[in-house]
Amino acid sequence: MLRQPLVLLSRSEKVKKAVSSMPVSSGVVARYVPGESTDSAVQATRGLIESGLHVTLDFLGEDTLDREQADYTVTAYLDLLGALSGQGLTRNAEVSLKLSALGQALPRDGEKISLENAQTLCHAARNAGTTVTLDMEDHTTTDLTLDALSELRKDFPETGAVLQSYLHRTVGDCRDLAYESSRVRLCKGAYKQPESVAFQDKADVDRSYVRCLKILMAGQGYPMVATHDPRLVDIAGALATRHGRAQGSYEYQMLYGMRPDEQQRLAESGEKVRVYIPYGEEWYGYLMRRLAERPSNLSFFLRSLISKK
Ligand SMILES: Cc1cc2nc3c(=O)[nH]c(=O)nc-3n(C[C@H](O)[C@H](O)[C@H](O)COP(=O)(O)OP(=O)(O)OC[C@H]3O[C@@H](n4cnc5c(N)ncnc54)[C@H](O)[C@@H]3O)c2cc1C
Repeated sequence: MLRQPLVLLSRSEKVKKAVSSMPVSSGVVARYVPGESTDSAVQATRGLIESGLHVTLDFLGEDTLDREQADYTVTAYLDLLGALSGQGLTRNAEVSLKLSALGQALPRDGEKISLENAQTLCHAARNAGTTVTLDMEDHTTTDLTLDALSELRKDFPETGAVLQSYLHRTVGDCRDLAYESSRVRLCKGAYKQPESVAFQDKADVDRSYVRCLKILMAGQGYPMVATHDPRLVDIAGALATRHGRAQGSYEYQMLYGMRPDEQQRLAESGEKVRVYIPYGEEWYGYLMRRLAERPSNLSFFLRSLISKK
């Protein structure tokens, strides 16, 4: 019920200005986004790695419609990769990219520009000793993103991709991507999508997630189980056992600030766990998506606003 209003709020510049200018906002935001700077992201990365976790970092921003912004994003990732490598963190930390932040939707040559930008970053990641995973955005970009993935994999076969179980097509995409050395992050999907392409009912999205997991766990690739859902975490573990997968031949992934105790519990039981850290100035839309997904996050947000007034 709250999802739509919050998603709409996330697009309002007025609300953004109001929330961002409140002194409290930094405290609330910090639970889900460690900061706006490279330094804050690297510091959070170091802390998680020291507690036995792995990390993937996302420089926030999407739907870039000007070239300068796309170039700025590339520079930010290069800066990040340099800092991670300089501090010896790239064994346990990689980066996640949104092609729309690299210029995919630019009116002229957007696909070509975003692919070239992604190639630059895959190259820098490899030099730094780490990898890139392509985030998945709304369904109108799924084919473009998978095409970009196969282009990138020609030179950088270590590049990973995200699939979203809410899309009807995803079982087929899992079959296509369950080959050796293929890294697939399976999530439920975060964008509002039409009935013609996506399951609308939570139970259907979950059933699809399990069907997809079965294919990925039975396949030759490297499944990345991105969910906070306790039932799906258990099912993933059971499927890994059924298919004789050793711990470390797949991994769990959760978002920064979400179920941190569970992240630790899984890591302490010997599982590989990666935390997705978003950072940067464009945190507002990301925060609103997280609040929309979970009413208890929303009440935490409202309580923080009230208590600090
Ligand atoms: C690493 C990672 C990368 C992602 N990348 C993408 C991407 O590229 N594209 C995309 O569209 N989406 C992405 N997502 C977001 C994803 O699609 C979902 O929107 C988001 O993860 C919420 O779905 P869920 O699986 O956690 O289940 P939900 O259906 O949101 O929650 C299921 C259950 O999990 C438990 N739970 C959830 N959150 C919490 C919490 N904070 N505390 C305690 N329990 C909780 C509750 O029991 C809840 O009922 C990513 C998610 C992760 C974790």
